[in-house]
Amino acid sequence: MLTGIVAVYHLWLHVSATTVALTLLLLVLFLAAQWGLRYAVVTSMAATAAYNYYFLPPIGTFTISDPQNWLAIFAFLTVAVVGSRLSERAREEAEDARRGQRELEVLYGLSRQLLQAENVAGLLNAISPAIMLVTRADAIVLYLLDGDRRYMAGDSSAIQMDDVSLRQLAQTLPAPDTVGLQARVPLSVGVRPRGLLLINGVTLSMDTLEAIGGLISVSIDRAQALEDVTRGEAAKESERLRSLMIDSITHELRTPLTAIKAAASTLLLPKTLDDEEQRELLTVIDEESDRLNQLVSEAVEMAQLDTKEVHMTFAPTAVAAVVEQSLQNCSSLLENREVKVDLPTLPLVKADAEFITKVLTNLIENAAKYSPEGSPLAISSEHKDGMVSVSVADRGMGIDLSEQGLIFERFYRASVPSQQTWGTGMGLAISRAIIEAHHGVLSVTSQLGEGSVFSFTLPVVES
Ligand code: ADP
Repeated sequence: MLTGIVAVYHLWLHVSATTVALTLLLLVLFLAAQWGLRYAVVTSMAATAAYNYYFLPPIGTFTISDPQNWLAIFAFLTVAVVGSRLSERAREEAEDARRGQRELEVLYGLSRQLLQAENVAGLLNAISPAIMLVTRADAIVLYLLDGDRRYMAGDSSAIQMDDVSLRQLAQTLPAPDTVGLQARVPLSVGVRPRGLLLINGVTLSMDTLEAIGGLISVSIDRAQALEDVTRGEAAKESERLRSLMIDSITHELRTPLTAIKAAASTLLLPKTLDDEEQRELLTVIDEESDRLNQLVSEAVEMAQLDTKEVHMTFAPTAVAAVVEQSLQNCSSLLENREVKVDLPTLPLVKADAEFITKVLTNLIENAAKYSPEGSPLAISSEHKDGMVSVSVADRGMGIDLSEQGLIFERFYRASVPSQQTWGTGMGLAISRAIIEAHHGVLSVTSQLGEGSVFSFTLPVVES
């Protein structure tokens, strides 16, 4: 470019020496802004020499006759070097500002991602991918001293370090540092070392590395605190449920017990009853004891589900088999009914077949119990968004909108049908607990006088 300018001015455009000097100065400043001081200084020297040779008399020699020109050339060189220095500083500052902004964005993005986590396990798995995403690093290793745990993201072969060296480094590294293209950030709880973060393939300032380390520690502490609070609340809730349960049970037990007690007391009276009456009272005792038995066993089952004492084995399960088994369980109830079963080809679901059969049996029993004799039932299923839903529809009396949420509560029985049929009000509560243990949802849509559809969802087995 320098040669170009000199040639143009020297050969074609005959302008004053000042114009040439200013043009060359512009070139030098431009180079300083683009490439840095070193190139600009070298170019200044070359430009000074060319200026002297081609434009300052005597032209064609490096000698300078007029002392004024000595001054001019000295001024040119000084302005070129000082100007270059200034424009390089401007360039560096702009770069610093850009880097600062990018690092701020990195920290902001990271803090948003990390502070969303609700539990420690989820957070620890999220940290490495999050850092990799926001810093655009090649590989990340998060190492925790507690349990020698490693969480990696990216090309893990890029960071090959055994547990012993990681542990040693995590315990001894006092502050973030950079070795080659690898940044190493110690993590700590107070003054105690907690672990180490290795970031491969990006250069970040020490301040940013320190901030990332602090952010990780704070987010782990926060998730830990949240988990502790949730655990405390769950314990409180379980205690509350237990006492609620005891209240409801004593209330529910009282009705059959009163009937049994009354029948037994009457039977014990001196001979006042004929055979027929005695039989009737004995039947009351028999039936009410059965109810008592059912109530107690359902209450125990609910309590076990509450406290997660029930052991479920989740295995790939065919919905069709569950439907078949449930229909078989209810065969006597369904003798005079048309049951329409509509099952498309479905993927296997992740479920405990025995428990799900119990849920479906309960829904079919309810559908039969709360709909007129002989009315049809329909069982259908569909696969959507990684879940399979199974529905049981009846043309029964339906459930009032205000009660649709309540029927899943333990011991709750809706006002309309419960007067005509006997039940414990526990079936749906148990079913919902089972479905929730499967990470599914049990729900109802119903219209009074038209019928109800109970549906539950189950997750499809991941392939
Ligand atoms: P139970 O049947 O022993 O009363 P559930 O928990 O199974 O207990 O059901 C709770 C209540 O929900 C029932 O008492 C009934 O009022 C209502 N219900 C359940 N299924 C149906 C249905 N298919 N149609 C109308 N009402 C229903």
